[in-house]
Amino acid sequence: MALFAGGDKNAWTAEYAEISMETIRVGGRRYSDPDILSLIKETGELVDPRSNVLSQARKLTAKLRGFPGVPKDAFGRAKIMASMFGIKVEPMKLEQRKRESRDALIMPTLTGSKVILYNPDRPESRIAFSIAHEITHCFFPNSANGARFRAMVSEDSREANELERLCDLGAAELVLPEPEFRHECNSSYSLAQVPVLSRTFGTSYEATAFRLATANPGKAVAGLVRFRLRKGEQRQIAALNLQTSLFPQKANNKILEAVPKYRRQSQFLSDSCDDADSVRWNKSFNQSSVIYSAAEKRTLCTAKEELPNESGDLGRLEAIPAPYQRSEANANFPDILFFWEKI
Ligand SMILES: [Zn+2]
Repeated sequence: MALFAGGDKNAWTAEYAEISMETIRVGGRRYSDPDILSLIKETGELVDPRSNVLSQARKLTAKLRGFPGVPKDAFGRAKIMASMFGIKVEPMKLEQRKRESRDALIMPTLTGSKVILYNPDRPESRIAFSIAHEITHCFFPNSANGARFRAMVSEDSREANELERLCDLGAAELVLPEPEFRHECNSSYSLAQVPVLSRTFGTSYEATAFRLATANPGKAVAGLVRFRLRKGEQRQIAALNLQTSLFPQKANNKILEAVPKYRRQSQFLSDSCDDADSVRWNKSFNQSSVIYSAAEKRTLCTAKEELPNESGDLGRLEAIPAPYQRSEANANFPDILFFWEKI
């Protein structure tokens, strides 16, 4: 394997074991990502990375409020915040735009500083969020081990995503600051408000919808569900396809009866939520849920429902087809955004 070329396989394995084994539990959550661990251990006392990221983001937006003439839109604000970190923000060259799938990325420059390159062909709301996400990466003291660690763990794993989720949390705080967002919501948190809110802040529908949960003063959960099979079922079908192509006479099609369901993908919780309020990744929603009505009617639907979690709390569940459908989405059963608030 190329990874071991010219190196000592045992040393590499030992290093992998060391990097992958350490897990620290703080603030009710477990972390293994080396970048996050570097933040947790920075001061000698255990730091809760969630509250640290939020407080760094809040300090930055508070500082921004002190400047005269700061634009209200997320893109303008994100560019100024980057400059406060000494980071330049520049559009990508035409050639790079063609091959780069990300809206923005951060790179070291030859002079030792950093530059954020963004794709000007993408909507400004998405570019702004990506710039804010990259700024949040700078809140973590080390990033050298982190990149290597993430290359080693499975893309779908909890460890691979924990840093990205924290950076999204920081980014949401930077482009949709909590005091201003709560003020605009005026105590009414609903997906019906999202078009107005996203125009006010210059943010995407999705980021604004998720902010309804993270800025919510009560118990609230938002996220995205996708119509799909369990991972094990997907693997079995892939194996069956291979087997059938090799040994057509041995085909066993029981697994083909597996039915896809709407399953939880991304998720955002308000500060008042605990572990019981969390919906497990890929957990399915019952077929009687309003999620399926939104998919069928292609509009915002609302019902009183419990989430498929351990809390047993009844809430108002809103669901709407996501305006932006990813390439993996099912054409007949679109990705659905949901927002749930305890009643
Ligand atoms: Zn990132």
